[in-house]
Amino acid sequence: MPNQSPVDLPDEMLHLSLCHGQVRVLICRTTALSREMALIHQPSPVALAACSRIMSGTLMLSVMMKSADDSVTVTVNGDGPAERIVCVGHGTEVKIAPTHPEIDLPLRKDGHLDVGSYIGHHGRLSVIKDLGLREPYCGQISLVSGEIGEDFAHYYTVSEQKPSIVALGALVSNGFCVSAGGVLVQPLPGCSEEILDQLEIRSMLFSSISREVADRTLDSLYTAWFDGLDPILLKRESIRWRCDCSRDKMERALIALGRTELTQMIQEDGGAELVCHFCRKNRQFTKEELTSLLSKAQN
Ligand SMILES: [Zn+2]
Repeated sequence: MPNQSPVDLPDEMLHLSLCHGQVRVLICRTTALSREMALIHQPSPVALAACSRIMSGTLMLSVMMKSADDSVTVTVNGDGPAERIVCVGHGTEVKIAPTHPEIDLPLRKDGHLDVGSYIGHHGRLSVIKDLGLREPYCGQISLVSGEIGEDFAHYYTVSEQKPSIVALGALVSNGFCVSAGGVLVQPLPGCSEEILDQLEIRSMLFSSISREVADRTLDSLYTAWFDGLDPILLKRESIRWRCDCSRDKMERALIALGRTELTQMIQEDGGAELVCHFCRKNRQFTKEELTSLLSKAQN
């Protein structure tokens, strides 16, 4: 692809190791999936940046999970106007449900989007890993800044006891996502002090990640950032936006509501309209359809 600008390259996640396995690195481009999310939720610029960062962070967690059936749900609940944002990663796929994508805020004094104020500087970030038949894993931390990257880094340090460097960014211009991406650097147990110092120094290079992924390929980024640390590319995978909701799942959710609520819907509302919070698709259920579900419901 000689003439393709990095801005238009497909989204992908690169898995790397540094220093002969002493450090794990993930780098992703999430531009296309952020644009797709924007078409669905019509977010303000600050909400677009916040959601994009959360999706990049969630994908990093989900691609590291062992089984293809595992999924991860990240909920960011701050005291800012965004209120609650729920993001689900399933392998290489991600979806997000912001509560208030329409709210916008003035730029910060330095000209950047004020993601921290949109999310709020106080609140929680929780991670639930659904591990199929095994007990789910739950971790929760207090938000550090609401800027998302720092909050994910804090999560790795506190909940998973894996101190990590995380940088997440989205470049938004006139409400359009120009580029988005992130990097995770995770020293593994036994990593030498010398390497830790090196990683700390190089982390300065990640501060303009959103601009960097606009101008360069992920390969050229990691080769430059980790020069001298023996970066080895372990895996390259496509990542994408996808909502896996279906009429079938919604029927099951309706059945799970129970007889009392279903009867109420039939008698008082004469049917139901359910909207998926992730993809905004709405599905109608007629009185007759609800009545047939009633026979499958308990209580
Ligand atoms: Zn959906």
